[in-house]
Amino acid sequence: MKTKNIIITGASSGIGEASARLLAAQGHRLLLIARRAGKLHQLANELGDVASVCPVDVTNYVELQRAFAEVVLPWGEVDVLINNAGVGYFEKIENGNVNHWHQMIDVNVKGLLHCIHLSMPHLLKSNGLIVNVGSVASHQVFANTGVYCATKHAVWAISESIRLELAGRVRVTTISPGSVNTPFIDNTTDTQMLNQYKDYFANAMPAKVVAEQIMHAVDCSPESVITEIIVRPNRQVK
Ligand code: NDP
Repeated sequence: MKTKNIIITGASSGIGEASARLLAAQGHRLLLIARRAGKLHQLANELGDVASVCPVDVTNYVELQRAFAEVVLPWGEVDVLINNAGVGYFEKIENGNVNHWHQMIDVNVKGLLHCIHLSMPHLLKSNGLIVNVGSVASHQVFANTGVYCATKHAVWAISESIRLELAGRVRVTTISPGSVNTPFIDNTTDTQMLNQYKDYFANAMPAKVVAEQIMHAVDCSPESVITEIIVRPNRQVK
């Protein structure tokens, strides 16, 4: 199997970290992006020579541009962008915190677009792959999560548009997981709601299950593309 150059955002935790572990085990070269430098360095040390670290906020285009120039240009080629960084705040609309709304839109939509913009020239050269992490909330709307659902609908729309526009040039996969057992839910500050969601998330999938699906999309032969994977815990209906 060809060794690929792969950028993973949100690599310091959860699905991104689990994906990094699986892809590193296959020998791929990784650029790990997230804000927490300590977590990224710890992971990179475990993974060995294949991993480079880039502690940057995906909402900061200028910083991201600098990081791409430092690491990605010397690589010479990018084969895969895994756009996974994301945040969710679950709260009632009447108690909505406007900063949380901004953060979800900035990270989940604008951050994803920043990485697409910076990777695109490389992906066009390599006939590469974008894996965007959406959610079942890309397809359905749930109470208390209107802004989050809107951002994940946006992820789906962006993926689909690029897929149509660049068919035969850049492949696009959307991964839409149901509940996954990661620290994701801990951002929710409404304690009553957090307790309800903790029960719901008790049956969530391990992050490795989603990472295996991401690896499956990355391994897919270049003549074909897995356009979307929806993966839910067995007991999750919605
Ligand atoms: P985690 O909270 O475990 O991981 C989120 C990752 O995103 C962290 O590595 C975090 O790193 C990174 N991140 C957040 N904000 C930024 C930022 N501004 N700049 C750079 N990196 C950032 O959650 P998950 O692994 O569960 O989430 C990964 C993706 O999966 C998200 O897009 C989420 O929406 C999606 N998802 C999750 C589900 C779940 O049930 N857990 C279900 C469906 C989809 P750091 O804090 O170091 O910056």
